[in-house]
Amino acid sequence: MKYTAGMLYSFVMPNDRPVVAITQCSSYEQDAVLAAVQTALELAGLLDIFKSYRKVLLKPNLLSSRSPEDAVTTHPSVVEAVGTVASQFSSEVLVGDSPPFAGENPVKYAALLQNTGTLDVASRLGAKVVRFEEQVLQVANPSGRLYRSFEIAAAVREADVVVNIAKLKNHALTKVTGAVKNLFGCVPGIRKGLFHVRAADDRQVFAQMLVDLASSIPNAIHVMDAVIGMEGEGPSAGKPRQVGVILASADPVALDAVASAIVGYEPMSVDTTRLGDEQGLGCGRLDSIEIRGTQINEVVVDGWLPSSGTNDWKRIPSPLRRLLKRQLLAVPAFRKDRCTGCGDCVRICAANALTAGKPPKLDLAKCIRCYCCHEVCSSFAVELRYGTLAHILGLHRLRPSCRR
Ligand code: SF4
Ligand code: SF4
Repeated sequence: MKYTAGMLYSFVMPNDRPVVAITQCSSYEQDAVLAAVQTALELAGLLDIFKSYRKVLLKPNLLSSRSPEDAVTTHPSVVEAVGTVASQFSSEVLVGDSPPFAGENPVKYAALLQNTGTLDVASRLGAKVVRFEEQVLQVANPSGRLYRSFEIAAAVREADVVVNIAKLKNHALTKVTGAVKNLFGCVPGIRKGLFHVRAADDRQVFAQMLVDLASSIPNAIHVMDAVIGMEGEGPSAGKPRQVGVILASADPVALDAVASAIVGYEPMSVDTTRLGDEQGLGCGRLDSIEIRGTQINEVVVDGWLPSSGTNDWKRIPSPLRRLLKRQLLAVPAFRKDRCTGCGDCVRICAANALTAGKPPKLDLAKCIRCYCCHEVCSSFAVELRYGTLAHILGLHRLRPSCRR
């Protein structure tokens, strides 16, 4: 069955109020997790989704090749539980992600799946394993505030339903990595890294990119493994911390808002939640969310350690950061001989980096490298020029994000 934007959301939420289900689960013992996941999906009104759609892709957080006990990745028992529920109704279940570095290499990807326990789960479920780098599609996202098209894994687009199985962790850049952030894994391989280079100086731009991306994946529902989360220096160097819940929702923003509140964060202090709420991706206001099952006050975690907010990119001195940015990312160049001065590029530039003219003038410091100017110019007057380092690394062979 084909979906349209927002279709899954309206399918499970005929009324206006978003629903987030919380179920308690104190360990990763398989039967307990299966019961908690099944109940959460049922309470959230999501079980019928599996009855109506055939091809289901499980998208856990497989950030790196770590064992489940490290709490860096979605625990395999949660992936297995979701897959077991889906398999009761859906005829085809797949599992995959795009882990940084490992996703580009089939051997490393197989090793990561083994170490995280995902391979055994896929085998028990009879689920096909997909590597997101295998096939990439460009999707338009006209409603995006900053980024209006993305290259995402074909497997994500081709699934009837994506079950986004996030892990509750701190994140140095986004404060929390939950349902909205976990969808970043749908952007394959090095393309993810380039988004970090584009936006790492500016948390707001990065968060807005994540919200734009999430809005371009309308066929997703969301489950969160918060049995054991990660406090402190998440998403990979923090401390595992018992939270004891599974969450489920059709609304990624509402799910993140509830998860944030459980660990003591004001939901709107998380940029992806605030921007996602403003943009209509979902609802971040707790008083407008219907919580089914366990209530927040029953499972609040005291003294959750925040992240210090430092990340590797910020450790690089800013002049070197600017140089790297210029070398790794294409810069739009405007050809005077072809430009008609129509102004389409100026109007579409959400970063206000262009001043009208023939050709327009670029303020490179403001440019977020979304390449919408390149996409919109019907006179082919906008070229993308890569630095020497990008050529050496072969980045010029990747299609720019906005080009169709
Ligand atoms: S869209 Fe193309 S032709 Fe129009 S002003 Fe921009 S560069 Fe010139
Ligand atoms: S100048 Fe072009 S690439 Fe830069 S922000 Fe504006 S539209 Fe995007």
